[in-house]
Amino acid sequence: MSNPDILQAALTRLDDAARHVQIDSDVLEKLKYPRETMKVRLLIRMDDGSRKSFLAWRCRYDDTRGPTKGGIRFHPESTAEEVETLAFWMTVKCAVTNLPYGGGKGAVRVDPKSLSKAELERLSRAYVQAFASIIGPDRDIPAPDVYTNAMIMGWMSDEYSTIRGEPHPGVITGKPIALGGSLGRDDATARGGFYLVGHLTERLGLPTEGLRVVVQGFGNAGQHAARLFRSIGAKIIGVSDSRGAVYASGGLDLDALLAAKNQGRSVLDAEHGGKAISADELIGLETDVLVPSAMEDMIHEGNANTVKARVVLELANGPITPAADEILAKKGVIVLPDILANAGGVTVSYFEWVQNRQGYYWTLDEVHTRLKTIIEREGDVVWNIARDKDVTLRTAAYIHALNRLATAIEAHGTQQ
Ligand code: GLU
Repeated sequence: MSNPDILQAALTRLDDAARHVQIDSDVLEKLKYPRETMKVRLLIRMDDGSRKSFLAWRCRYDDTRGPTKGGIRFHPESTAEEVETLAFWMTVKCAVTNLPYGGGKGAVRVDPKSLSKAELERLSRAYVQAFASIIGPDRDIPAPDVYTNAMIMGWMSDEYSTIRGEPHPGVITGKPIALGGSLGRDDATARGGFYLVGHLTERLGLPTEGLRVVVQGFGNAGQHAARLFRSIGAKIIGVSDSRGAVYASGGLDLDALLAAKNQGRSVLDAEHGGKAISADELIGLETDVLVPSAMEDMIHEGNANTVKARVVLELANGPITPAADEILAKKGVIVLPDILANAGGVTVSYFEWVQNRQGYYWTLDEVHTRLKTIIEREGDVVWNIARDKDVTLRTAAYIHALNRLATAIEAHGTQQ
């Protein structure tokens, strides 16, 4: 079960940033609570004829800057607090990248690995039936998150269009290409982080050759990150998934690891060319870049001191607790914060939504170039705020977001 105080912990980052900007206290008051969270119990028919129910949520945290946007995760330990925190982070993330969106998030408390494909489809469709009144292309736009993927987004968009009686591809992003998905959405989360590291390499003091990378969590973001870093000659020296971790100082056999995941097996079962280590040993590996790519709170007070990475690239949402943040800052470890580092996913989601509305589709090159431009531009702004105000990159990213959110909240006037 995730930490019940996770939202309060997340909000401390906003308070840290607020100390460095001149903003009205009303603005902070508005950002401290989710606007609406809907909770539903989904009842679906299992393959054996029985019925089973699953708790599900959709939170629209803040829509000041536009329709709410954010993924839906299927996870056995999801809670309302976690969904609201993730929706808060989406609000800030969309402000950092200047996307015309607020923040939202959804979840179903389920272990998707325990469902058949047909059961998973019924659950995905049931989710949209239950939340059809709160989602919509101009209201709240879901996307993939932990343990959801393009296939699930396809079913969901199909269900929404069936309910409305006409196609509405812009209601959801991360769809299969055949249903209006965007080229380049599949690896966008990792690619955004990869562009950010590439752009800041010198400023971060990273080597331009022989970069060592450790990837914690080997789902969509982690696998693509490993592949992208390898494409510039980096060595992937450590990788973990929910079953365990593997390490090789000279670099693991990434193709073998990717093949194992592709077949639904663990990294432990691959011919990886290294040795098995514990999850905590992985966090403490001597490396240039550590890439947490899975769940929240993975680097905490108990293990932050062991981190030997020069840079932590947060592809997961909220992988470092506030207490661990302080420890890392004292050690001189530079954290590229989630609300910037993993914003590539929602940025290409935005491109998908734009393409759906225009009915005109871009080339992969166009997607990559536009993504790179946004990540580099906002990366520079955040870097400069951190330098000028002598704060961490996380605080700088929150300052940047808070400025944009405050401007929008004030522009709405007193009725908002
Ligand atoms: N789930 C992703 C995130 O946390 C993507 C959200 C989206 O594309 O809307 O940023």
